[in-house]
Amino acid sequence: MYKVAKVGKQYGQTVALEDLSFHIAKGEFLGIVGKSGSGKSTLLRLLHFMEQPSDGTISFMGKEGSQFNNKDLRRVKQEVAMVFQQYNLLHNLTVEQNVALPLKLVGEKQPALVEELLQFVGLSGKAKRYPKDLSGGEKQRVAIARALVRKPSVLLCDEATSSLDEANTEEMLRLLQNVQRERDLTVVFVSHELETVKKVCTRVLVMEDGHLLGEIANQPTNLRE
Ligand code: ADP
Ligand code: ADP
Repeated sequence: MYKVAKVGKQYGQTVALEDLSFHIAKGEFLGIVGKSGSGKSTLLRLLHFMEQPSDGTISFMGKEGSQFNNKDLRRVKQEVAMVFQQYNLLHNLTVEQNVALPLKLVGEKQPALVEELLQFVGLSGKAKRYPKDLSGGEKQRVAIARALVRKPSVLLCDEATSSLDEANTEEMLRLLQNVQRERDLTVVFVSHELETVKKVCTRVLVMEDGHLLGEIANQPTNLRE
């Protein structure tokens, strides 16, 4: 899916990433752990092609990012979805409008798919509610439904469970594991909590100060009931 080769990223004098090389296979559940400031969010922004690396190359589905034309960039927007720690829901839109938003932005309307996704995340009963009426766990489930609505092949999660309590974290991980397995989704799960990552990831990259310290093979817990 991805080929990251000798990637570096600088912001002025700050070296955020240095000499990173790794591959991400299709359908993989990859974890990336490291302390705050180790470069995890920067790496996710590069995998989302929101920013370009300062050094090295990132290829996605066989094509190098620096060679993307406008059509490739539109394709990347559909294929790569992201979930954030702070949910990033729009407060003046209902739950179902939030989930439908990525479709609306490209002039599509798929009410049946929106309903199916709300059902999948267990929120069909709250379709007409507003984000302020939801718990943190529910907000993150809306964010997951929204991320999936354009049928991406990659889901990037940036500290997606870091604002949640233990029960909601477990529920979120179970949902992610289900989509990854059932839809053959590639998931990249970034967190500062190794214990959380080890519950779901088959492989974990460990980062420190913008470097890759090493890689851990992992046996995830089966969270499906
Ligand atoms: P993490 O996600 O692991 O907390 P980040 O990728 O956010 O790490 O940050 C890595 C380093 O790069 C930090 O030193 C951070 O301050 C710096 N950094 C990240 N984004 C920017 C930016 N847009 N401008 C300047 N420095 C940045
Ligand atoms: P987190 O600690 O949750 O990973 P980040 O460090 O990525 O959050 O910061 C969130 C936002 O702030 C990002 O959009 C990033 O580009 C920006 N940012 C991070 N560090 C700096 C910095 N030193 N200077 C300017 N912008 C920064």
